[in-house]
Amino acid sequence: MAIYLDHAATTPVHPRVVDAMLPFLEQQFGNPSSIHAFGREIRNAVDRARDQVAEALHAESGQLIFTSGGTEADNLAVTGVATALREKGKDRVITASVEHHAVLDTCEYLEHLGFSVTYLSVDSTGRIRMDELERALDDRTALVSIMYGNNEVGTLQPVEEIGALARERGVFFHTDAVQAFGMEPLDVKSLPVDLLSVSSHKINGPKGVGALWVGREVPLNPLLHGGQQERRRRPGTENVPGIVGFGRAAEIAVAEQGRHREKALACRRTMLEELDRAEIRYTVNGHPEHHLPHILNLSFPGADTEVLLMNLDMEGIACASGSACTSGTLEVSHVLKAMKLPDELLRSAVRFSFGLGNDEENVREAARTVAEVVNRLTKR
Ligand SMILES: *Cc1c(COP(=O)(O)O)cnc(C)c1O
Repeated sequence: MAIYLDHAATTPVHPRVVDAMLPFLEQQFGNPSSIHAFGREIRNAVDRARDQVAEALHAESGQLIFTSGGTEADNLAVTGVATALREKGKDRVITASVEHHAVLDTCEYLEHLGFSVTYLSVDSTGRIRMDELERALDDRTALVSIMYGNNEVGTLQPVEEIGALARERGVFFHTDAVQAFGMEPLDVKSLPVDLLSVSSHKINGPKGVGALWVGREVPLNPLLHGGQQERRRRPGTENVPGIVGFGRAAEIAVAEQGRHREKALACRRTMLEELDRAEIRYTVNGHPEHHLPHILNLSFPGADTEVLLMNLDMEGIACASGSACTSGTLEVSHVLKAMKLPDELLRSAVRFSFGLGNDEENVREAARTVAEVVNRLTKR
């Protein structure tokens, strides 16, 4: 049996989430906008799911916009605020060089539209520098978009400090909390954030659904036009089974967060212990303390990422390089590059990410295989 250690890419759907979704794939097909009984029933289910996701974030239900996932939530946040504030002479966005491509590529698109974007550098642990952010903020700045926790190396950004500074300067702050959701306690009432993105399939929900939380008095232009859904901020007939599944997944994720965290940390420790026992040479990429519990990015000097991944796959270990493998060629990670990793470490990095279905036992087994493969590939 293969061992799945790639939960930062996607997660299995929780059986209780499947149970919650099934009625909406079978009998309950109505359109939530219809005024008849078929529609009303579905409207109630969507409202309930909205409450579940809102509760998980300590948000008001009315402040959530369901989207097609984390990517759309990020696009909507960045483009929505930037274009809404442009009329007020604010045409500047600040982000970080280690963001997910959903934010980075959106920012590049904004540059094409004539906006000015600052990409903050990071230190060797992947954290932005507050003084650099402080210098970058000016009267033209509409939005700061910095992720909560990084999907490749797990590094947590100083979101409290970033938000406090942004607030002081009257600049809106968006955070991509896709990886943090379900792992870190997220409370939009106490966090100094204005917009926050989450995604269902990273928390054992179905794919193709996510949400953007938008605080009060945040100007936001929609990306899509065409209907009344989501208060006109995201028109289009709702992905009802997906939304219902997302709601249930959010509820479970919060109820089991403590256990989930502990287990992820235990898996992480086990992986490192076994590699140490086998005397494997490795380095840990990311921040030694401020990191998400479930993401462990390691470099194995002397090995090559792509060869490692292929060999591990043949041995039944599913892990990743962190950066997506587009069209069959593995690109060097923009995150590790931004962290200025030496070439040898840049080209031998592998991301392990833990979740449902992992335990100390199968992680130990996986670690022994990793040790064997690394030994084989680095022996000369
Ligand atoms: C997965 C991920 C996304 C994209 O979410 P989708 O629902 O897959 O579109 C965005 N940001 C981060 C940090 C992610 O890990």
